[in-house]
Amino acid sequence: TMATIPTTQKGVLINKTGGTEVLQYTTDLPVPALVDGQILVKNDYIGLNFIDTYFRTGLYPAPQFPYILGREAEGTVVKTGGGETYGLKEGDKVVWMGDGAYAEYTGVPAKNAVKIPEGVPPKIAAAALLQGLTALTLVREAHAVKKGDWVLVHAAAGGTGLWLVQLLKSIGANTIGTASTPEKVELALKAGATHVVNYSHEDVKAKVLELTGGQGVAAVFDGVGKSTFDLSFECVARKGSLVSFGNASGAVPPFTIGRLTAKNARLLRPTVVNYLATREELEHYADELFAFVVRDGLDARIFGVYPLSEVARAHEDLEGRKTTGKLLLDPSK
Ligand code: NDP
Repeated sequence: TMATIPTTQKGVLINKTGGTEVLQYTTDLPVPALVDGQILVKNDYIGLNFIDTYFRTGLYPAPQFPYILGREAEGTVVKTGGGETYGLKEGDKVVWMGDGAYAEYTGVPAKNAVKIPEGVPPKIAAAALLQGLTALTLVREAHAVKKGDWVLVHAAAGGTGLWLVQLLKSIGANTIGTASTPEKVELALKAGATHVVNYSHEDVKAKVLELTGGQGVAAVFDGVGKSTFDLSFECVARKGSLVSFGNASGAVPPFTIGRLTAKNARLLRPTVVNYLATREELEHYADELFAFVVRDGLDARIFGVYPLSEVARAHEDLEGRKTTGKLLLDPSK
C-alpha cells in the first residue's frame, strides 16, 4: 500500500552560523520532491555527529542558507524517483549518509543508502552507520592496523571512539585510549581498550612510552584536534601514522612538514566520505561493518534519543563533553 506522504514536515534548519540559538525547529518545511536517482526516506532515527556542530558554528561552511543540518539517518523508503536506485524499493528499511537529515523526510541519492541486513535492529544500524564506517575505514585505509599493533585512540568513549576501540579489539591490536572522566575511562575499557588514560590529569605520553617499551604507537587516531595534536605527534613511533580526523577541540593549526623527519612519520587528514566515494566502496564497508556487528557482537552504545525539537540540548551535551557513544534524534517528536 502506498504510504501517505504529506506536503509539509518537521525539521531543523539554520539561516546563519552561531551557537545553538541558530537551530530553527520548524513544522512547515516542504517535503522534498525527488530527482532522478533519489529515494524519499521517512526517517525513524537521525544520527547526531560532531560535524553537525561544525556546520552550525561555521567551522565548515554550509553550502547554502537555509541549510538543513544532519548527515545520516535510518528510515523507510516511501517513494523512489527515476533512474538507478540500486535495487532499493518502497518499504525497505535503510540507513543512509548525505545531506539534510534533520527532518522527517529526506530525498536521498539511492547511491548513498544501504538496506539494513537481517539480524541488525534498525536502531542499532542507525547508531552504527557514520561513526562505525569512519572507524572501520580509518583502521583499514588510513592506517591498516595489524594484530599486535599498539594504537592510541583519543576520546575513546565518544561515538567514533567506541567503534575504534571495538574494531581494534576484533583485529587483535592493543589500544591505549584517552578520556576525560573516570566513567568514560571505564566505558572504553569495557569496550575492549587495553589501557585508558584519563587525559584530564594523567601523563599520556609517559604511559604510552611505558606500555610500548619506549617505541610509541604505530598509529594515533585523533579526532580531538587542536588540544591533542602535539601530544599525538609525540606518541607516534618511528614510521608510524598520525591520523588526524577531526576537530572536537578546534581546528589543528598549520603544520610544517619538516617536523615529520623526526620520525619518518605519516600524517593523514582523511574524511570518511572520500573512502566511500563509489557504490562499491560503500557496499564493501557497510557489509564489513554489519558483519562485525552480527558476528563479533560489536555494539552501538546509544547515549540517548533526543526529540528533534530538543536538538539544541543534544548539541550542547555533545559539545559540552557530557556524552558517550551515540546520540540519536527522533523526528516524530
Ligand atoms: P564524540 O562522541 O567523540 O564527542 C567528542 C568527544 O571529544 C567528547 O565527548 C570529548 O571526550 C572529546 N573532546 C576533547 N576535547 C573536547 C572539546 N574541547 N570539546 C568537545 N569535545 C572534546 O563525537 P563524534 O564521534 O561525533 O566525533 C569525534 C570526532 O571525530 C570529531 O572530531 C568528528 O569531527 C570526527 N569525525 C570525523 C569524521 C571524518 O570523516 N573525518 C567522521 C566522523 C567523526 P572526552 O570528554 O573524553 O575528552
